[in-house]
Amino acid sequence: MTPDSSYPNSWYAASVSPPAVLPSLQGDIDTDVCVIGGGYTGLSTAIHLRQLGFEVTLLEAHRIGWGASGRNGGHVGTGQRADQATLEKWLGLDTAKSLWQLGLDAVQTVEHLVQAFAIDCEFGQGDLHVAAKSGHASALAEEVDHLQTVYHYSQIQYLSKQAVGERTSVQGCYGGMLDLGARHLHPLKYALGLKRAAMALGVALHEQTPAIRYSADSRTVVHTANGRVKSRFLVLACNGYLGDLEPRIAGNIMPINNFIVATEPLSETLQRQINRDKLSLSDSLFIINYWKLSADGRLLFGGGENYRSRFPHDIGAFVRPHMLKRYPELEQTRIDYGWGGTLGITMNRMPDFGRIGPSVFYAQGFSGHGVPTATLAGHLLAQAVNGDSEDFDLMSSVPTHRFPGGTLLRWPGLVAGMLFYALLDKLSR
Ligand SMILES: Cc1cc2nc3c(=O)[nH]c(=O)nc-3n(C[C@H](O)[C@H](O)[C@H](O)COP(=O)(O)OP(=O)(O)OC[C@H]3O[C@@H](n4cnc5c(N)ncnc54)[C@H](O)[C@@H]3O)c2cc1C
Repeated sequence: MTPDSSYPNSWYAASVSPPAVLPSLQGDIDTDVCVIGGGYTGLSTAIHLRQLGFEVTLLEAHRIGWGASGRNGGHVGTGQRADQATLEKWLGLDTAKSLWQLGLDAVQTVEHLVQAFAIDCEFGQGDLHVAAKSGHASALAEEVDHLQTVYHYSQIQYLSKQAVGERTSVQGCYGGMLDLGARHLHPLKYALGLKRAAMALGVALHEQTPAIRYSADSRTVVHTANGRVKSRFLVLACNGYLGDLEPRIAGNIMPINNFIVATEPLSETLQRQINRDKLSLSDSLFIINYWKLSADGRLLFGGGENYRSRFPHDIGAFVRPHMLKRYPELEQTRIDYGWGGTLGITMNRMPDFGRIGPSVFYAQGFSGHGVPTATLAGHLLAQAVNGDSEDFDLMSSVPTHRFPGGTLLRWPGLVAGMLFYALLDKLSR
């Protein structure tokens, strides 16, 4: 892996002052915990470990926030990625309720970190999930009713097609679910704010330092090009970029690529027409579209994904048809940026938490819900390293299943499955 010294050309990278590169690891060091991966999972783990008194070294192959954490849609949704009715069927009501609470804790953990470390990340409030098929509208209405009555969650309401239309000019919508407990943010500003918090707490951060391999005996030893980190504990926080660092967990997730565009800044009138209340929005398609406005009035629209190692040559042209289907009035609007990122998904879309022996912990596969869940994962990983693993064990107990064929055969199987569901997006009502 050749370390990248810069961030991908996204609107996010263009809207922050480029941070100085932190020195790569040179020589051997000894510490309490080594964390591999400088996204939300790794940063949040490092912050929470330092607050518990551990010495921490974090290794990032490229730049802090270079992975999905610096490129995503910035939606901070409540609950888990799988819906509560499904979790109840799999695990029973009591466990589903505990998982719901952890989902709320995840949003609160983000809120707490933003406030505690004064992270300026364009923190907004409220999410509107719109039904893209008439059949999806009744399912959303049922879900809202279920959350209100069984979970006593009062921040959520069902909106009729007309009520959605008052808030957004979105086309092809049959109703919606408005969640005022959800938040949204500028993902790279959030990641860089966590980085500053970690540095202020005394975490040793090394950029452009890929971990090449590790061993775990009486101490864990992580090898890099020019040094080694010996530690009591190791946390793997590499998610969709894990590669072949740890084949025992690589087959639990599938790396997939997802894409976003940023338009030119829109007029005040267009902004209000598209998103009156400055919410985050998404639709109910299997290959989900999601969008929100940036602080400078651009539409940030995510749509389309692929399952290859390469991104499309022209990401703007790839995402534009999805955007125009929802907002045809943007036909003449210029696209200024288009970028992609890789995320880890699991078979059932619940995250994959676990241990490999007594000293190696990991969390991955947040399946598009990682802004809150990866942040929470960091808190739970730190607690587990500290010997308090109740919530970590609850998350690890949710079965996620390896992709059939593990790392070797997961591509053809997944691609066939994904294409099947994409076809259903097109055909079903
Ligand atoms: C386009 C896109 C849109 C998304 N939208 C949303 C959204 O709106 N809401 C939401 O909740 N989630 C969203 N997600 C998912 C979310 O971004 C991720 O779940 C989350 O950022 C995962 O954080 P992480 O720290 O686990 O992984 P990452 O942020 O990917 O970080 C992993 C890091 O590990 C490093 N690494 C890997 N291997 C090594 C190694 N051997 N040595 C050293 N470093 C290594 C990588 O360089 C990388 O920086 C989206 C993802 C993408 C790609």
